[in-house]
Amino acid sequence: MTTAAPHPDDGLRPIDVLTVVAVTDVTPSVRRVVLSGTPTAVAAAGPTVNLLVPRVGDAAPRWPRVAKDGRIVWPDGAHGVSLRSYTARRQDPVAAQVEVDFVLHGDGPAAAWATAAAPGALLGVAGAGALGDRPAAQLLLAGDETALPAISRILAAAPATSRGIALLEVAGAAEEQPLSAPDGVAVRWLHRGDTPPGESTLLADAVATIDRPEGEDVFAWVAAESAAVRTIRADLRGRWGLSRAQHHAIGYWRRGRAMSPAG
Ligand SMILES: Cc1cc2nc3c(=O)[nH]c(=O)nc-3n(C[C@H](O)[C@H](O)[C@H](O)COP(=O)(O)OP(=O)(O)OC[C@H]3O[C@@H](n4cnc5c(N)ncnc54)[C@H](O)[C@@H]3O)c2cc1C
Repeated sequence: MTTAAPHPDDGLRPIDVLTVVAVTDVTPSVRRVVLSGTPTAVAAAGPTVNLLVPRVGDAAPRWPRVAKDGRIVWPDGAHGVSLRSYTARRQDPVAAQVEVDFVLHGDGPAAAWATAAAPGALLGVAGAGALGDRPAAQLLLAGDETALPAISRILAAAPATSRGIALLEVAGAAEEQPLSAPDGVAVRWLHRGDTPPGESTLLADAVATIDRPEGEDVFAWVAAESAAVRTIRADLRGRWGLSRAQHHAIGYWRRGRAMSPAG
């Protein structure tokens, strides 16, 4: 791992910079990038992670720095580094490696970076967050390809006694990935076929056919394109009557809009 150069006593610390060690295509549209860093940097890079994505081909990015309160302080002028949210599919501090699965959706700095990623390329990390899940007797998980890394972690960590369903919207059979889930949680793949991502109503339609399980020990976790998530959130709060503590429903991307401007 390299670290961006420190500045003299201005209270700002350098970000962690990870180095690509391997790149594999998990499915036609998902590329897994294995990154190495110090065990501490790897342990801190998830489960959700704020990535600093350099412009393709920029071997010496002008990284931001981080203030004591966690704020990202950008360098003056053009820097070409974009901030994007991702999920560490796997973190292994012993091997000092973290894996991130990028959807190659064709547009945007992060998708472009992943498309071009090769061993030796650099990626910055500026903080991490929680997945927002909570163990419960009855689980509803719903997401698209961008949520697959999170759902795989939630299923792997779920108590063996959990029951429920995981709904996963992908383009087709070639995009399905093996997932290990408790016996009582059914994994159902939904194929949107030729409908472009963000335009299908498959996930919301599937949730709409499911009745709320009995009891209060219920938790729903949803992440996908923002409009789909809005519809599902309204259904879960209305028809299912879930409280805020009983669900986490977050738009992971917005159709036709970059998540934040490129630097
Ligand atoms: C907490 C969190 C965790 C996430 N984890 C992952 C993850 O592990 N893997 C992952 O791939 N994504 C993940 N995402 C989603 C990812 O941050 C967005 O897809 C992001 O927009 C990608 O940045 P970009 O620079 O490629 O595209 P942007 O510059 O943000 O967008 C450019 C264009 O691409 C479109 N676009 C963005 N994403 C998609 C998509 N998936 N399909 C089709 N069009 C798209 C936008 O609508 C826009 O028109 C996560 C998001 C959040 C909030």
